[in-house]
Amino acid sequence: MQRKILLDEKELPKSWYNIMADMPRLPAPPLHPATLKPVGPEDLSPIFPMSLIEQEVSTERWIGIPEEVLDIYSLWRPTPLFRAFSLEKALNTPARIYYKYEGVSPAGSHKPNTSVPQAYYNKKAGIKRLATETGAGQWGSALAFAGRLMGLAVTVYMVKVSYEQKPYRKMAMQTWGADVYPSPSGLTESGKKILAADPWNPGSLGIAISEAVEDAATHPDTNYALGSVLNHVLLHQSIIGLEAKKQMEMAGDYPDVILASCGGGSNLGGIAFPFLKDKVEGKALRAVAVEPASCPTLTRGEFRYDFGDTAGLTPYLMMYTLGHDFVPPGIHAGGLRYHADAPLVCQLYHDGLIEAKAYGQTSVFEAGLLFARTEGIIPAPESAHAIRGAVDEALAAKEEQKERVILFNLSGHGNFDMAAYDNYLSGKLVDYEYPEELIKEALLKLPKIG
Ligand SMILES: *Cc1c(COP(=O)(O)O)cnc(C)c1O
Repeated sequence: MQRKILLDEKELPKSWYNIMADMPRLPAPPLHPATLKPVGPEDLSPIFPMSLIEQEVSTERWIGIPEEVLDIYSLWRPTPLFRAFSLEKALNTPARIYYKYEGVSPAGSHKPNTSVPQAYYNKKAGIKRLATETGAGQWGSALAFAGRLMGLAVTVYMVKVSYEQKPYRKMAMQTWGADVYPSPSGLTESGKKILAADPWNPGSLGIAISEAVEDAATHPDTNYALGSVLNHVLLHQSIIGLEAKKQMEMAGDYPDVILASCGGGSNLGGIAFPFLKDKVEGKALRAVAVEPASCPTLTRGEFRYDFGDTAGLTPYLMMYTLGHDFVPPGIHAGGLRYHADAPLVCQLYHDGLIEAKAYGQTSVFEAGLLFARTEGIIPAPESAHAIRGAVDEALAAKEEQKERVILFNLSGHGNFDMAAYDNYLSGKLVDYEYPEELIKEALLKLPKIG
C-alpha cells in the first residue's frame, strides 16, 4: 500500500499545457472599456512583458518551460501525490481518494508555480521591479519569493486590515526582501485620494490593485503581476495536472472526479486542464469547482462582461460574475473572495466541461478538521473547500456502495491561518449565503455588452 506517489526530479514536465488548443469554444476576447474593441498587445504592454502577453493569447498546445524556471521549480517540484488511506478509513468509503499536495512550495501554496515564471519573463524583458497587491498575503509571499530568487525587487500593496491583523505573511514577504505597504498607502495617487477622504480606510483588494497597477504604469522599469484569473497564470499552473497525470498512471488509477477550490480558478485549471484534454477526446471524467456559498460566482453569478478589478482599471473580461463591486462579508474566514473567475474556467463551465458546487464555511472547516485529524496536514481554508467536495463524493460512493476514484488539489497548507481555525473551534464562524438582492443590484450597475 503506497501512500506517496513520487516523481523523480528528471520527470518534471518540460512544457506547460495550454487548454486553448483543445477547448470546444475559446473565451470571448477581453474588451477595452472605452472603445469596447478587443484589447491589443499595446494596451497591455505598459504593465506586462510581451512574452506573457503572447502566452495570454496563444493557442499552441505545449509551451516550453525555460531552464531557469525548471531550476527553481526543482526546489519543491515534482510535488507528491498522496493516497488518502486514513481519510478513506475514517469515512469507511469504497472510494479511492488521492490528493496532490502543493503546500510543499516555499510559500506554502500553488502560487509560486506562476510567480516564478512571471518573475523570469519580466527579468528577461529588462524589468527591475514588480508591483502587486495581496489580501491575506499568499500571492504577495509567492511573488516576494520568486522576485528574490530571480533578482527583481518586489513591492506589495497589502490590504491594510490584513497588514495589521495577519502579520506573519507580511513578515515572510519582508524576509524574502519585498517592500510591503499597507494599502491605501500615501505612495500612489489612488491611495492618497482615498486617505484624504478617509484616513482610517481599512483598504480592500480593489484599492490595492489600483495602487499596484498605478505604480507599474507610472514607472518604466516596473511591471504588474497577477496571481490568478489570466490565461498565462492557468497555463503555468498546468504543471500540477501534468505531474498528477503521470502519478495517477503510476498508481494504476484514473480519476472519475477531480475537485479543486475555486477563487480565481488557477489551482482548479492547474490540476484539471491536462485531464480535461482527455474529456474533450471522449473520456468519462467530471471536474468540479468548489466555491464558498458566501462568494458563489459560478453557481449564482451571471456570464457576462465585467471588470477584473473593483476599481474598474482592467479590461472587460467575459466571466461568471457577482459584479465587480462585490463586497465579501467580513464574517467570512475561508478565502476565495474574488468577484468572478478566470475566463477559461468560466467558458468551460458554460460549455458543460466543468461543474460547480458551493458550501458554507462551517461545513468546509468541518472537512478541513477531519483532514487534519486523519491525514495530518492542516489545510489552507481555501483548500478545505476541495476537501469538503471530495468527502461528499466519497460519502456518495459509500451510499451507492460503488468504487469511485477521487482526485483533489490540496492547494496549500493552513499554518498561517490559525486565526480562522481558532474562530471555527471556538464556535465563532457562522454560515452566510450571499443575498440574491445584492447580486441583482450589483449586476444592474454593469453595462450590457453584446
Ligand atoms: C490563492 C489560493 C487559492 C485560490 O486561488 P485560485 O486562483 O482559485 O487557485 C486557493 N488555495 C490557496 C492555498 C491559495 O493560496
